[in-house]
Amino acid sequence: MLRNRGRNTRGVEKLFSIEQLTNGPSKVCMAMGIDKKCNHLDLCGDKLYLESDSKDTKITDIVFTPRINIDYAGGAALYHWRYYIRGSKFISVRKYEPLRSWRNNGYMSLKHQPNPDLFTQFENDMNTKINTDEQEKIKKLPKVELHLHLEGCIKVETLLKLASQNNVQLPKQILKQKSIYFATFDQFVYTYYSICNVLVEENDFRLVIRDVIDYVKDNNIIHCEVSWTPFQYLNRGMRFDHILSIMNDELEIQGMRNRIKFIIDTQRDHGVEVGKLVYSHAFNCRDCNIVGIGLTGQEQGFSPTIYRKLFQHAKQKGFGCTAHAGEYGSAMDIWQCVKDLCVTRIGHGIKAITDDTLMDYLKNKKIHLEISPTSNVRLKRVDSYFAHPFQTFWSRGLNVGINSDDPEIFGTGLTDECLSVMNYFGLSLDAIQSTLFDSIQASFISENEKETIKQQIVNGRREISCS
Ligand SMILES: [Zn+2]
Repeated sequence: MLRNRGRNTRGVEKLFSIEQLTNGPSKVCMAMGIDKKCNHLDLCGDKLYLESDSKDTKITDIVFTPRINIDYAGGAALYHWRYYIRGSKFISVRKYEPLRSWRNNGYMSLKHQPNPDLFTQFENDMNTKINTDEQEKIKKLPKVELHLHLEGCIKVETLLKLASQNNVQLPKQILKQKSIYFATFDQFVYTYYSICNVLVEENDFRLVIRDVIDYVKDNNIIHCEVSWTPFQYLNRGMRFDHILSIMNDELEIQGMRNRIKFIIDTQRDHGVEVGKLVYSHAFNCRDCNIVGIGLTGQEQGFSPTIYRKLFQHAKQKGFGCTAHAGEYGSAMDIWQCVKDLCVTRIGHGIKAITDDTLMDYLKNKKIHLEISPTSNVRLKRVDSYFAHPFQTFWSRGLNVGINSDDPEIFGTGLTDECLSVMNYFGLSLDAIQSTLFDSIQASFISENEKETIKQQIVNGRREISCS
């Protein structure tokens, strides 16, 4: 190794310390004589292969960070796809460090002119089509939301407060416009990770859950299942049970524990070992108000099938199971989640529109699709609201619910989503009520609790009609 590294410095023999020998991927390649001649080599062959050092490295010993100096990869540069063993000497950048361009000029793709903002267009259209009487009715209707991410509910004021308290720099765009802003998918990823980075102390989650509570009250949501993807916080040293107990304490104080339940997600691109760790926290956290587990993260190139045993185990333990699928991936991805993971709900699932057999299967098995129209439009998963498959799913009799995904990031809320479904897909107030029944039926609470919520929806609807 020493000879290889020495020879590659333009003929000049150099002495390296053991740390300098392989501290970075290109140095590893030089040291091991890996160059373009190795392209297309089978890594399961006997020439170039990975070997375990047979040490029992635990998943908690591995640090997950964004990769270094790959700004050209756009939003993907921020995925936590760089791994190293905690305390290893052979690491070029040891501590988690945001990309240089974050700190200076904002992310490079933020310099590009944003595309026309479809949401503004949507708001304008909405104001002309839905009359204020209907808007009021929808606002007052008791609702159910099953697809909502914890960090997607953080208000910009909370972000600014936490950023200053924890001395974390927020993107210039958020600071300047005092609103959470993005126009492209790269910017969305950038925004999402910026939000996660301001959460530094376990107690910061008290402010986060307060924002969730405000959101739930503002939208008159009587049952909400909020998803949390905890791994990056655990990887930074925070403790799962502490955070859950802080959030549940706040729910208790505000009398919201029965209205807001948790779903614990893992990112499928982080692999099955991370999944085991995250779900084991959920399985073992007694009285933590957790009703289910979920799968999020990159779909393409990361089959859900490896999580099969974990999902089986969750079911045996009485947890509900859901998975994001068919948002960025294909209909096949939805098939894998329903067949291999036996989930009863799919996050998004909009690609089911490309497969008639799948749509029939979802209908017959009553598998619930957690649809978030504005999220799909804003992330350009569909060209416009009019191109969204919601209307087709609904008229074919599929089990669909209405959700907001990340309301503060997408500038929406469940009331707005219901209005957009009425406006763009032609659903009546009765039909909206029927989707709420579908949602509560697909929720992960007990049958008795479901009946109570259904009755509250019926009563709420009656009051609206009489007023
Ligand atoms: Zn989601």
